[in-house]
Amino acid sequence: MASAQDQVNLIMQLRRRGIRDPKVLRAIETVPRELFVDEAFSDHAYQDIALPIECGQTISQPFVVAFMTEKLALEPTHKVLEIGTGSGYQAAVLSHLCRRVYTVERWRELQKAAELRLAELKINNVTTIIGDGWLGWPPQAPFDRIIVTAAALDAPAALLDQLKDGGRMIIPLGETRDSQSLVQIDKTEEGLVETPLLPVRFVPLVHGRVKRD
Ligand code: SAH
Repeated sequence: MASAQDQVNLIMQLRRRGIRDPKVLRAIETVPRELFVDEAFSDHAYQDIALPIECGQTISQPFVVAFMTEKLALEPTHKVLEIGTGSGYQAAVLSHLCRRVYTVERWRELQKAAELRLAELKINNVTTIIGDGWLGWPPQAPFDRIIVTAAALDAPAALLDQLKDGGRMIIPLGETRDSQSLVQIDKTEEGLVETPLLPVRFVPLVHGRVKRD
């Protein structure tokens, strides 16, 4: 079993690694990561490592979740789109910092499990959707912020379209797993401005939703 001390240690580690926004640290502190990992890994829930989840996917490393969340620079009024629900952990963290989160996952099994966890935590400002994240979620566009938690070669055009003017997207881009970089894309009056942030390793953003699972 992970202890309360493990959780405190994680927050201290995130601070040491440069996460400064108290609201982001508080959100991470509020969400019990052990609920989002397989029971077999619950002892490791508060270590700063990625862990396997169902369907061959991964829950991101807490530092990367905190870093991406901080870079989103969320306001309480923001409507956010997440691509790649996975365990639902990142969405749970976001839910404490903005008005509403829409999160898209291609595996029904993951979407259902994430929804149950979010309900258990009484988080009611996250909507989970089964679909192809390459297409975004047009019914709720435009979004103030978009966070993509799977890697693509280029930012999907539909997602750029669904980003508000003045909005920001955080997305891992790169040809191979070993050459990915987390990129911040700002939609400004002068056009899209890309800022590389950090080398990362994400599972790929796959085309199409899973038809049978
Ligand atoms: N944010 C997650 C971790 C994401 S792992 C968490 O907090 O746990 C990346 C996820 O993206 C996987 O669950 C994978 O199935 C999903 N994914 C990959 N391609 C996708 C696509 N085209 N549309 C929606 N989800 C996709």
